[in-house]
Amino acid sequence: MQLVQEEENLTFNQFKDWYENRHEYAKAWKERTGGKVIGYFCTYVPEEILYAANILPVRILGSHEPQDVTEPHIFAMFCPFCRDCLAQGLKGRFDYLDGIMIAQSCLHIRQAYTSWDLHIPTDYSYYLPHPMHVQSPHAIPYLKEELIQFKKSLEKWIGHLITDKDLKSGIELMNKNRRLMNQVYELRKEPNPPLTGLEAMYMVVSSQMIDKEEHNRELELLLQKLPSRDIGDPGERLIIIGSEDDDTEFMKMVESLGATFVTDDHCTGTRYFQKEVGSSRDLMSAIAERYVKRVPCPSKDWPNRTRLDHILQLTKEYDVQGAILIQQKFCDPHELDTPAIKEKLEDKGIATLFLEFDVTVPIGQFKTRVEAFLEILREEDLF
Ligand code: SF4
Repeated sequence: MQLVQEEENLTFNQFKDWYENRHEYAKAWKERTGGKVIGYFCTYVPEEILYAANILPVRILGSHEPQDVTEPHIFAMFCPFCRDCLAQGLKGRFDYLDGIMIAQSCLHIRQAYTSWDLHIPTDYSYYLPHPMHVQSPHAIPYLKEELIQFKKSLEKWIGHLITDKDLKSGIELMNKNRRLMNQVYELRKEPNPPLTGLEAMYMVVSSQMIDKEEHNRELELLLQKLPSRDIGDPGERLIIIGSEDDDTEFMKMVESLGATFVTDDHCTGTRYFQKEVGSSRDLMSAIAERYVKRVPCPSKDWPNRTRLDHILQLTKEYDVQGAILIQQKFCDPHELDTPAIKEKLEDKGIATLFLEFDVTVPIGQFKTRVEAFLEILREEDLF
């Protein structure tokens, strides 16, 4: 039995290891391939084009450690995630990057990017204008033109053209990664999902920093093992909703109380990998369409809040009983959506718990609140 348990734990070890040792991985990748690495802020960055140029995209994430280096550069009332990201640059943790880039999204992350660009020297930087009004009929043609400009800028930097063949292989690589992760998520709909929310988080977050070819190989192995994997009764089935979230300690704590996250709506989860690039012959248009029509970040989801129905759909598909809404302190886009999400979910009989995250999370205090929340769900189960 213990052997089986140990083997079960090994199933996600590679993803966990990649996530925890992302810098060592990127440095080794550079040495092995001689390629360039770009650090990116925000999941609206079209990684397809970077892969087409043989560049490794690495998402810039924080480290969840207290820090005191960002105060002169960024307002203290900007979200902790942005400050934590910038702190990583100022502390030199990403000193192997050849370049950085952002696709225009919320004000706070833009400030983190601008400050990084000003104070941390890199060989290349690019601010990709990206439509904020993605519901506009002009959004796709606008983004297509911007992607063409971005491609030209990359070609100048790397010193050669990026061909259609290169672009097709970048698109196929990214689509395959999305497809495989979707297949894993499908298994989370089962009455006894073969993976925890923490494991799913290791899988998705590592895909944002690891060469997708390697990540895809690992996903294929995982998909062979998962159908016969049994990790027992999931307890209460939860969804986690919010912005960026790679707080593994929080996930571990919640799941140690007998519940399981069966799905999510955040940009280190489904919002990152759902929706593939279509098969149009106009490759730039197809890429633009994917990023305009993906499940949106609330900073772009107006005038209609399309994300709310998407969240309800997820709760149905994954048979969710309770929702934990997490918000990075001071994050206006997500805060504006929270009352409407709460109302929609509660109308459908799904209990919600709202928690505000900072760079470090008060696990003890949160544990008490999560225990009380799960207690409510268990009582509801009795009726
Ligand atoms: S959307 Fe919110 S959490 Fe994400 S970077 Fe912007 S302010 Fe921070």
